[in-house]
Amino acid sequence: MTDDVAVVGAGLTGCLLAYYLARRGHRVDLYERRPDPRTADAERGRSINLAISERGLDALRRVGLEHRVMADALPMRGRMVHPPTGTPVLQPYSADGTRAINSISRGALNNTLLDAATSEAGVTVHFEHRLTELDTGKGALTFATPHDEVHAEARVVFGADGAGSAVRGHMLAQEELDESLDFLDYGYKELTVPPVDGEFALDPGALHIWPRGSAMMIALPNPDRSFTCTLFWPTGGTASFASLSSPAAIERHFRTHYPDLFPLAPTLVDDYLANPVGLLGTVRCTPWQAGGSVCLIGDAAHAIVPFYGQGANCGFEDVVVLDRCLDEADSWQGALELFDARRKVHADTIADMALDNFVEMRDKVASPMFRATKAVEHTLERLLPGRYVSRYELVSFSTVPYADVRRRVAAQQRALGGAFALLTGGIAAATARLSRRNRL
Ligand SMILES: Cc1cc2nc3c(=O)[nH]c(=O)nc-3n(C[C@H](O)[C@H](O)[C@H](O)COP(=O)(O)OP(=O)(O)OC[C@H]3O[C@@H](n4cnc5c(N)ncnc54)[C@H](O)[C@@H]3O)c2cc1C
Repeated sequence: MTDDVAVVGAGLTGCLLAYYLARRGHRVDLYERRPDPRTADAERGRSINLAISERGLDALRRVGLEHRVMADALPMRGRMVHPPTGTPVLQPYSADGTRAINSISRGALNNTLLDAATSEAGVTVHFEHRLTELDTGKGALTFATPHDEVHAEARVVFGADGAGSAVRGHMLAQEELDESLDFLDYGYKELTVPPVDGEFALDPGALHIWPRGSAMMIALPNPDRSFTCTLFWPTGGTASFASLSSPAAIERHFRTHYPDLFPLAPTLVDDYLANPVGLLGTVRCTPWQAGGSVCLIGDAAHAIVPFYGQGANCGFEDVVVLDRCLDEADSWQGALELFDARRKVHADTIADMALDNFVEMRDKVASPMFRATKAVEHTLERLLPGRYVSRYELVSFSTVPYADVRRRVAAQQRALGGAFALLTGGIAAATARLSRRNRL
């Protein structure tokens, strides 16, 4: 199985995939619609940094890239929850407070992966090549470039071209898959907190959250000691991105709802006016592959909302799963079918969990009940090491497949529910005994 492979999209997943495939001995052509990001300005409006956790690190570690990527990462050991008034509270991610997710610059990560891919003799990257046509049966690709139209062929084509995948679009047009796109009525906008006197303006060891019911702001640290804030808010309605446009109204809004953040963000009003509102949605499609010759991977197959910080992690994990399928199967068809059969259920699961986590981050993290539940969870994790593990830990600090995480958490909750029922039943019986005794 050493045929020529085309990977469309040199984003995070596409670069890592090209690297893995080249190490297996394949000749890989990697096509990217944008110019080389190592020489061009970064694209505005995409998240500037993201959180990489165990699944992503595992995929990088397997091919010796973890240390290169982690050199610039900033560990975040918990959520720092900022109430509208009062002192922020740190909620550690793990029972012992040591486990961290890692804030990484998207651009730096992409460049490291591009460098890795292009260091392999078998990889050729073609920038400014936008896929416009794909005949999936023949593996015939057509690209628009700044100069002319380019035609290419490959035995296998991977669509790693993101949520709006052109490869998926062509599979759909050729009736090779069904898809559903569910957009949230929320969008996101990025704002900046610069360093103060050369230092971080907020604790860089935490992911900061301002939960405000129908809105939520988060901030992740950057190596240059700034923070990138992302405001999640409805796109339309009375309290929404659409409702706020004048500088005075923007200033009033942020002073009122984010009083500790506003003084730290001197360019907030300008950022707000200049930066676009990004859309958030979930892409589901099936099957991911057609005829053993074309296959979707990463966001192209399963874009999810960002509230679990798992989109890129999941894309990297796809590459590991595909690599295993290639080990096990003796044909491309066998490997791609196996990949599709094995992986989709897990991608569907994290898509659902990411939607659930939005409600948790936006509404629940600020409540005393949530904090108490987390404290109980951490206590159970300490008392029953390896036997009780919270959903967050299993998702972020393990490589337990996502659907297995869901099953395991449900089983833990049933067991806890049983223990709770026994406990409350015991208390009720004891109370009844006491009151009988008192009547006697
Ligand atoms: C606000 C926000 C915050 C996020 N935070 C996190 C986080 O903390 N942790 C995490 O793990 N994930 C996070 N994600 C998700 C993460 O960004 C994505 O899951 C990840 O970028 C997907 O990588 P990809 O390579 O599959 O797709 P993309 O990153 O979308 O890359 C696709 C590539 O294909 C190229 N392309 C597109 N069309 C064509 C074409 N026709 N021809 C050629 N090339 C094409 C694009 O230019 C791009 O380079 C976040 C997402 C958002 C929106």
